[in-house]
Amino acid sequence: MEIESLADQIVSQFGRLGYDVDRDEVIKRLKLLVLEFKVPEREAVRTVRNWVIREYEIPREKVISESPLVKIEEIKKPGEWVSLKAKVVQLWDSSSPSVSQVGLVGDETGIIKFVIWAKSGKEEVEEGKSYLFKNVVTDSFQGRMQINIGRTSEIVEIDEEVQSPREIEIVGALVSIQQNSGLIHRCGSCHRVMTKGICPIHGKVRGYDDLRVKGVLDDGDNFYEIILNEDNIRDLTGIDLNKAKRIASERLDRNAVLSELKKLLLGRYYKVVGVRGGRYLLVRKVDRIGGVEGSEVDRLLEVLA
Ligand SMILES: [Zn+2]
Repeated sequence: MEIESLADQIVSQFGRLGYDVDRDEVIKRLKLLVLEFKVPEREAVRTVRNWVIREYEIPREKVISESPLVKIEEIKKPGEWVSLKAKVVQLWDSSSPSVSQVGLVGDETGIIKFVIWAKSGKEEVEEGKSYLFKNVVTDSFQGRMQINIGRTSEIVEIDEEVQSPREIEIVGALVSIQQNSGLIHRCGSCHRVMTKGICPIHGKVRGYDDLRVKGVLDDGDNFYEIILNEDNIRDLTGIDLNKAKRIASERLDRNAVLSELKKLLLGRYYKVVGVRGGRYLLVRKVDRIGGVEGSEVDRLLEVLA
């Protein structure tokens, strides 16, 4: 971008806050950084913005409260302060104690991963509810965009329901299933997945059983990370939670469920309807191509019995 238009962006941004920033001085500093010192444009803009904040003694809160309301598809660069209205479409397990919640939020333009840091002290968000996420920072992790919610961010539940993005249909093969799939234990109070009877937040508590598959779908062009819930798994394999528990108790091994699911699901083709966001595909409906072979499961259970 031209130095002049970068400068105009900076000047008008602070103009909206009521500060009359010296345009020539901004241009001079940008030129020095970009042309003389070969600093990348984004870095230069950040440096000059920080200079303006210091020079004009602009309170930090004022700058943050300015973070513009954006749509998810507009989030393309890390390190920017933005606000967005989005619906929590999926919560994931957070394995790190520094993370309070992690998952996907969506609006009508897309879905994006979010991370709420434990230090932020925020109330927990709920799946299916819509929120205004104020002053969150965009970030890039392993080449994918995400938003980070920290101490200076705000999460406000809103009444309007944010629309989900348009659904797509993918036909692909399930090429891998993660180890933490199958018959899992969830915490009774926060629903997080427990490891060896321990919830990462609540410690040793009563849990309940659940069935899920985390896997990777390959449509020949892309890989998509998907999560199948109990309903999806039952429709595809005939194994519901009760059957899964029977398999586990008859084999005296909870991992037997995962082995069976792998046998029944891996390497086969599926038609998945859902919403795409980066490498994630949020599954709403999944069908096996070629139909369900429920009889296989019944045969298996007969053999076990
Ligand atoms: Zn818990």
